[in-house]
Amino acid sequence: MKSRVQVVVIGGGVVGCSVLYHLTKMGWKDVVLIERSELTSGSTWHAAGGFHTLNADTNMATLQGYTIKLYQELEEISGQSCGLHHVGGITLANDEDRMDFLKAEHAKHRHMGLDTRLVDPAEIKEICPVINPDGVIGGMYDPLDGHLDPSGTTHAYAKAARIQGAEIYLRNRVLELNPRGDSTWDVVTEQGTVHTDYVVNAGGLWAREVNELAGVYLPLLPMEHQYLVTDDIPEVYERDTELPHVMDPTGESYFRQEGRGLVLGTYEQRCEPWSLDGTPWDFGHELLENKLDRISESLEMAYHRYPCLEKAGIKTIINGPFTFAPDGNPLVGPVPGLPGYWTACAVMAGFSQGGGVGLTVAEWMVEGEPSRDVFAMDVARFGDYCSRSYTRDTVVQNYQRRFAVGYPNEELLAGRPFKTTPLYGIWKSQNAVFGSMYGMEAVNYFAPEGEEPYEVPTFRRSNAFETIAEECRAVREAVGLNEVHNFGKYEIIGPDAESWLNHVVTNRVPDEGRMALTAMLSPRGKLMGDFTMSRLGPECIQLTASYGAQAFHMRWFQDHMPASGVSVRNVSDTRIGLQVAGPNAREVMSRVTRSDVSNEAMPFLSVRRMDVGVVPAIVCRVSYTGGLGYEIYVSPEHQVSLYYTLVEAGADLGMRPFGMRAMMSLRLEKSFGSWMREYKPDYSAAETGLDRFVRLKKNDFIGRDAAMAERDNPPARKLVTMIVEANDADVVADEPIWRGNEVIGFVTSGGYAHYSQKSVAMGFVPRELAIDGEAFEIEILGQKCPATIIMTPLFDPDASQMRG
Ligand SMILES: Cc1cc2nc3c(=O)[nH]c(=O)nc-3n(C[C@H](O)[C@H](O)[C@H](O)COP(=O)(O)OP(=O)(O)OC[C@H]3O[C@@H](n4cnc5c(N)ncnc54)[C@H](O)[C@@H]3O)c2cc1C
Repeated sequence: MKSRVQVVVIGGGVVGCSVLYHLTKMGWKDVVLIERSELTSGSTWHAAGGFHTLNADTNMATLQGYTIKLYQELEEISGQSCGLHHVGGITLANDEDRMDFLKAEHAKHRHMGLDTRLVDPAEIKEICPVINPDGVIGGMYDPLDGHLDPSGTTHAYAKAARIQGAEIYLRNRVLELNPRGDSTWDVVTEQGTVHTDYVVNAGGLWAREVNELAGVYLPLLPMEHQYLVTDDIPEVYERDTELPHVMDPTGESYFRQEGRGLVLGTYEQRCEPWSLDGTPWDFGHELLENKLDRISESLEMAYHRYPCLEKAGIKTIINGPFTFAPDGNPLVGPVPGLPGYWTACAVMAGFSQGGGVGLTVAEWMVEGEPSRDVFAMDVARFGDYCSRSYTRDTVVQNYQRRFAVGYPNEELLAGRPFKTTPLYGIWKSQNAVFGSMYGMEAVNYFAPEGEEPYEVPTFRRSNAFETIAEECRAVREAVGLNEVHNFGKYEIIGPDAESWLNHVVTNRVPDEGRMALTAMLSPRGKLMGDFTMSRLGPECIQLTASYGAQAFHMRWFQDHMPASGVSVRNVSDTRIGLQVAGPNAREVMSRVTRSDVSNEAMPFLSVRRMDVGVVPAIVCRVSYTGGLGYEIYVSPEHQVSLYYTLVEAGADLGMRPFGMRAMMSLRLEKSFGSWMREYKPDYSAAETGLDRFVRLKKNDFIGRDAAMAERDNPPARKLVTMIVEANDADVVADEPIWRGNEVIGFVTSGGYAHYSQKSVAMGFVPRELAIDGEAFEIEILGQKCPATIIMTPLFDPDASQMRG
């Protein structure tokens, strides 16, 4: 075994072998894979081998498409068959909601280059004659779906990697992972120690144990999963062509042909985590005991759906474990806080996702950043807040929801409430309906008195529509009160705070007492963040950003941190507070502080330390609602005091609490973008308009060359705001934008702007079409709705309220 290498990949399942292959494909040859037993010795060997592109995240779906198209290349390089069966697949819909879901997915596929189509019951029967279409109202057909031989495919990755220079060490367990302190690692194995620049945990079923060796906990858990293989069935083997895959969400089952019989698998409600306290090292090629009683309801529905099953005997029943993260997507990338330690685990669909995971790891490692936004599988989308019990509850929920319709306004309940602020009980007593982000509860809206605090999940306008409209009106016409706990907040401190930040972000760090908006770029000019900077002192700057990006942003800061002179503290949960927003906001503030809050003393984008009521606070003259507003930051122990002070002061000024639904509606009226919607690593500053916060003349900063190149050669697409003639459903994200018969762009987000009473969409169109009044059509739930670009904001177009 080599003693010094560039990369050690731990685990010879389909994912580890794909990572190894992609590293060699990108030119890194000094890479090795270490496997405890033989290749495929974890979940991989007993997989059903199905693959598909469907994924709620568009980039994940694209990477799944990449994986499927890769197999032919692999076969050619390795000479090893993957046992491919490109038979196509249908997802059935039994009700209108499911059909809406499929319509929305199908619409996204148009701009992703995926070739799906919607089908009616007659076509379904034609494509899959053994189906009984009773109760089915339609479906979506994807020609890319199919299945393969899991073992052959894993060996094809491994062979191709070896041909391209990698080495694989079998029967060699990794026993210890020891960091040297310079971001390199000693990997201690049964056959000796290897010193490496990078470790990749592709330990699959044992990924938890490998993480423990590195001293980190990541949220993943194995679940038991069963499928059965039938004896030969004449209706199957007498056909000339192979049957397609069928996903029947109502029956929570998937179905495909296997030789002369069928495979039927289920994602049942009565599911079970496997080996909660850890995977035994001696677990290997054994299967788990069958638990058919747990899937009896699904089997009954399957027998109804595929009548030919009734005559068939069961040849084999497979019950095996494989791992999931709380949202079902993989955990990939550099683990925050552990330089040199990477993960490629929790891959629950190794044959749909393995290629994309391998490509992503290799691009990120070799080139410094992936070629697309991969936040949906980034290990940093979860922070260190996840406890083992939180992981268990959310992973079980995800398994049970494998076939559930994902509604845009749905709030999942497992593991909640997890993190709350001191105001939680007060909001609850006011009939608040909560959402959750990064484990933190935040009010979505306040249900009317006497009404159940519950927003019905839907693709259309919900039961909360009127209430949100009232909250918006209060903010626009009087004053609204809302928490600011759900921003990510960072304090940059030290003598070099200003110079370091000027190197990391695109705008100039403001003078003391002032605020500025800024972008943060990758070297390639992709957006890594959009921040508000508040200069609190000569050596102290506060950054505010998305709450859900905390581990993502902290990882970036730490990766670019000098040895001394500056430090970054994540104060997201220790600096919380409230905002007052609306025309009466200044009057409220003037009643609660002796400090001068007049426009002269405290203009737009200024920041002051002051007492509010009796508590010390940082007050920022800014509001994401786009009108007059103040964000007031305090310590958690002062939040309740602050609340009562503001409520008392605002009682005769029409003050009303409002939630995130209203906030997201109000920001649309100002065309304010939002992180992971309009702003994310897929896009650049010039594409999104954030180039107005790029100061090319200041000293060198990360991404400057790319930003210069964009200035000289403007990008092909541009973010715009459109008014949509929608019916009862507004855009969510990723809807295609049509011009004539051509899809020319896509939506990033939108919704109903209640105060302006307009349906709004933000999205990308070709630069030459980004003109005021330009007309398009946006496809919402299968219907093309006229849409027109507006270049001036719907509310406060001259910013007189915001700045006045
Ligand atoms: C019943 C069942 C049906 C499935 N059906 C499908 C399907 O139809 N389609 C699909 O895409 N997916 C399916 N899956 C899921 C699929 O099996 C997984 O997504 C995939 O196998 C994950 O691969 P992996 O490489 O991440 O992990 P694993 O296959 O678990 O591989 C991890 C490897 O790491 C090695 N290892 C761990 N620790 C160490 C160590 N310390 N030192 C050295 N080596 C170590 C292990 O020995 C193992 O070989 C199914 C799973 C099950 C259980």
